[in-house]
Amino acid sequence: MSSDERSDEAFAADVRAFLAEKFTPDLKAMTARQAGVFAEGELAERWHNILYEQGWIAPAWPEAYGGPGWTARQRAIFSEACARAGTPKLPGMGLSLCGPVIMRYGTEAQKAFYLPRMLSGEHRWCQGYSEPQSGSDLASLQLRAVPDGDDYVLNGTKIWTTHAHTSNWIFLLARTSTEGKPQEGISFMVSPMNAPGISVRPIISMSGEHEVNQVFFDNVRVPIANRMGKENEGWTVAKYLLEFERGGGTSGPAMEVALGRLKTIAGDEENGSGGSLLDEPGFRARTAELEIRMAALDWTERRLNGGKATGESVGQGAASMKKLSAAEGGQLIEELAVEALGAYAAADQRSALGVHANEAPIGKAHALTPVARYLNGRANTVFGGSSEVQRNILARTVLGL
Ligand SMILES: Cc1cc2nc3c(=O)[nH]c(=O)nc-3n(C[C@H](O)[C@H](O)[C@H](O)COP(=O)(O)OP(=O)(O)OC[C@H]3O[C@@H](n4cnc5c(N)ncnc54)[C@H](O)[C@@H]3O)c2cc1C
Repeated sequence: MSSDERSDEAFAADVRAFLAEKFTPDLKAMTARQAGVFAEGELAERWHNILYEQGWIAPAWPEAYGGPGWTARQRAIFSEACARAGTPKLPGMGLSLCGPVIMRYGTEAQKAFYLPRMLSGEHRWCQGYSEPQSGSDLASLQLRAVPDGDDYVLNGTKIWTTHAHTSNWIFLLARTSTEGKPQEGISFMVSPMNAPGISVRPIISMSGEHEVNQVFFDNVRVPIANRMGKENEGWTVAKYLLEFERGGGTSGPAMEVALGRLKTIAGDEENGSGGSLLDEPGFRARTAELEIRMAALDWTERRLNGGKATGESVGQGAASMKKLSAAEGGQLIEELAVEALGAYAAADQRSALGVHANEAPIGKAHALTPVARYLNGRANTVFGGSSEVQRNILARTVLGL
């Protein structure tokens, strides 16, 4: 039950007024130059602070922990309005992934310490799950945590760690036992990134952006008090978090915006016979097919999210279905946008991309981000669990195979 008694129409009007006032032209200009998965640096910080001051930074959190107390419908209205306005996509490793885990598995002391700092943005989080030899087969992870007095001593490495270079906390999975099945010897813990012995090596993606890293742990001491859940039972915690990574939030409205962007490009590019690309029956058919797929995703998300209370996950099977359909649909939209650009897709736009870039894009303004989005988007069907892995989960949990 919401503590917010406004009608949906009044609520939507308040959200629109808020966005019109706070999503200022300079924030819009910065956002338009970003093609990465998440907003970064000054842009992320400013938008986070604006939402935090308004009390809207964690719409999916229960009110008791600092959520705004919205109904499922109000959460959907807010998320749709933000997607349509094109607001920055804030990194969700803390608020969307680690937060729900702390609420469920953290002690009262852990909740009191971490949750308010996550909300305020004082703690910026990254996720230490994958290792060089452990991605899909995550349970084979090797990063070792050996108890020593009040601490664990950590040795090993994590890889593909998004925003490790801008985060000041990491949540991670470590091996605390080599007995029994691999899943049985894992623990979930958190560490400040400035702990002695942690070092971060950048990995530059093919779009030229720095989002991911490899993180090394060399005799890093992590207090045992920083563990969430019981020792060797971290696999259960890890899986709970993945339900939020794969099934949290909504992609439908953002997909609609991406489709709109595609149509703008196609409407503006010539087809070589006096019309626009959008007049081409073949192109229109492919766009229509995408619209149908995205409408199906949107309604599925509405159904799933509408039935869940704040702070709850949608469950493993549904989470995999949402992840799969959003990741693959998004890639198809990006592919078509690059195709629509024609020769301008070959231009190197890197000096015009990024929050602080001030060079003009080569060609029309809409030519700036599609290629970088396309290149970054190749990772959508890999991170958060590859499409093959999602299909395996669906086969097991939904089809019972
Ligand atoms: C941009 C980006 C950001 C990322 N951010 C993070 C992060 O912040 N934190 C983090 O911990 N990790 C992160 N990751 C890592 C990501 O979770 C892994 O890349 C992913 O789980 C796949 O693991 P892998 O790369 O080791 O590939 P592998 O597991 O080696 O898979 C290789 C191929 O084999 C297929 N495959 C594997 N197992 C099966 C199977 N059982 N059945 C069928 N096919 C299979 C896969 O689908 C894939 O095509 C990120 C990755 C990327 C690309």
